Amino acid sequence: MTASSSQKMVRVLVVEDEPTITEFLRIGLGYEGYQVDIAEDGATGLRLAESGDYDLIILDLMLPDMDGLDLCRRLRAAGREVPILMLTARREVADRVAGLDAGADDYLTKPFSFEELLARIRVQLRHRGKAPHDATLRAGRLALNPETREVTLGGRPLHLTPTEFDLLRLFMAHPRRVFSKEVLLSRVWGYDYLGDPNIVEVHISHLRDKLGDRPPRLIRTVYGAGYAFHPEEAEDDAA
Ligand code: CA
Repeated sequence: MTASSSQKMVRVLVVEDEPTITEFLRIGLGYEGYQVDIAEDGATGLRLAESGDYDLIILDLMLPDMDGLDLCRRLRAAGREVPILMLTARREVADRVAGLDAGADDYLTKPFSFEELLARIRVQLRHRGKAPHDATLRAGRLALNPETREVTLGGRPLHLTPTEFDLLRLFMAHPRRVFSKEVLLSRVWGYDYLGDPNIVEVHISHLRDKLGDRPPRLIRTVYGAGYAFHPEEAEDDAA
């Protein structure tokens, strides 16, 4: 069910100079089965992008040597049709419009959560017929569709908040994998989340309630380590 299981690896080029973000993307996208290259400046980014080997480019607006918009325009002028997701630290509508005018397919405003980024990537890859993920993640009676964001338990719809949905998608995509609270914060709340880390417990508790998740749990607490999803618990009486 992971991205790497059936199709050839999807190659993503990240053009960004901020180490916090490149590290966040390198680890996170690698974890999801994407092959990731990083270019820390516009010139390197342009050279790699022109090789044409990428399925998607994540492009920061502010680069040390070049404006991301220029890079985007140059790629489009050269006939490169690869999907481009722009990252922008600024919130002005004008920047977003300029990004799309320059030929970007979509944009994300920093700070963004990793789950939000993944959803945007899937949309772009699906448009190009390269969606690497199975449409629906299943565990026994539980089904989650990352594209429509619908979740059902025993065929009945579950109404999850966006945060609960993102947590469940991450767990279901990586059964039995232990996620620390820090990783969950970074993946679901964003790489620069500075609030109370105990927010994770609160949302997991709500999610468990909605799933009717009783011991031994579907979302299990791994003492001193974090949380792990155990799909076998969804086989029978999870409701
Ligand atoms: Ca930057």
